[in-house]
Amino acid sequence: MKGFAMLGIGKTGWIEKEKPECGPLDAIVKPISLAPCTSDVHTVWEGAIGDRHNMILGHEGAGEIVEVGELVKDFKPGDRVLVPAITPDWNSLEAQAGFGMHSGEMLGGWKFSNYKDGVFGEFFHVNDADGNLAHIPEGVDPVLAPMLSDMVPTGFHGAEQADVQFGDEVLVIGIGPVGLMAVAGANLKGASRIFAVGTRPNCVEAAKFYGATNIISYKEGSISEQVLALTDGKGVDKVIIAGGNVDTFEEAVKAVKPGGKIGNVNYLGSGDYIKVPREDWGVGMGHKVISGGLTPGGRLRMEKLAKLVAIGKLDLAPLVTHKFNGFEHVEEALYLMKDKPKDLIKPVVIVAEDLMEE
Ligand code: NDP
Ligand code: ZN
Repeated sequence: MKGFAMLGIGKTGWIEKEKPECGPLDAIVKPISLAPCTSDVHTVWEGAIGDRHNMILGHEGAGEIVEVGELVKDFKPGDRVLVPAITPDWNSLEAQAGFGMHSGEMLGGWKFSNYKDGVFGEFFHVNDADGNLAHIPEGVDPVLAPMLSDMVPTGFHGAEQADVQFGDEVLVIGIGPVGLMAVAGANLKGASRIFAVGTRPNCVEAAKFYGATNIISYKEGSISEQVLALTDGKGVDKVIIAGGNVDTFEEAVKAVKPGGKIGNVNYLGSGDYIKVPREDWGVGMGHKVISGGLTPGGRLRMEKLAKLVAIGKLDLAPLVTHKFNGFEHVEEALYLMKDKPKDLIKPVVIVAEDLMEE
């Protein structure tokens, strides 16, 4: 089969590989729609998780099952499914402890385009099919379904980690597709004012659509100073980091109140340390909690998030600014993600012929 792969750090190309094999609990799926991710960009061009050779890229997609293992109960060939970016081993001790995304080892639930071939192949392998796949529900457009693989679960995980409560004032740093879903997640969790940080005009528009009340540009001075000015010097209750770099934590710590929480979902592609300012962190005693987490993945979570879309509480359409017809456009879509033209939020590649659009 054909796949679009990372050949080495900074190098991509089309390769031929054996079709993956199906274990007793697994499924083999062919993509019906796909999306590239900023994480693929960190992985290939920053070498952020180390070198990978001839590894098929991609971890965002929806698909059609072509084969299931003999122990799979709820799925059969022909079923169209949502596929999460993170596919934990549900029988691992880490999953039993509530951290399936780290099954086996830290980040071990992130298998596609990390430990094994990703979804940018003519076929891909899904471990623990019953625990990781979900039927595409009525009311979810299969073309937009790849947004449920990673963008929705990750952005919402930012809101979970920041522990957003009714009435909280929340700062969301970064309003690419992940940050936009952090805004939407914070909004659904009952945030009051939401300060969204970013500059690309259509991201700013989308942030307002998803619930941002104030827009801050990181290009016009320090984020924390702008937040403090807007909150009578008090700061916000919660911060979600979905963009920036290792220095962004300094801004987050300065902008959050004592007792506040900072949830990071940004993939830090470079730099050795994150910076925590000693005084603003209450000289070690400010109760300013910082957490960072890979999105949990798995079936139950994806089914629940898909329900928000199916019943109309979450609209995925504003996230997708570019659509391509045909598997071969995966390459172009990934490069779009790398180059981030001003009008881009997220591209989708439609693979199934019956879904292709004019
Ligand atoms: P984008 O590049 O589309 O968005 C990044 C955002 O951060 C933009 O709004 C950008 O502003 C803003 N930004 C850039 N530089 C700064 C800065 N110095 N200070 C503050 N804000 C800044 O990325 P995505 O939304 O696609 O992804 C965000 C991150 O999430 C990536 O690192 C990605 O790899 C990661 N990720 C993490 C996952 C997880 O499980 N934890 C899963 C998936 C993705 P501007 O409008 O000016 O461009
Ligand atoms: Zn992703």
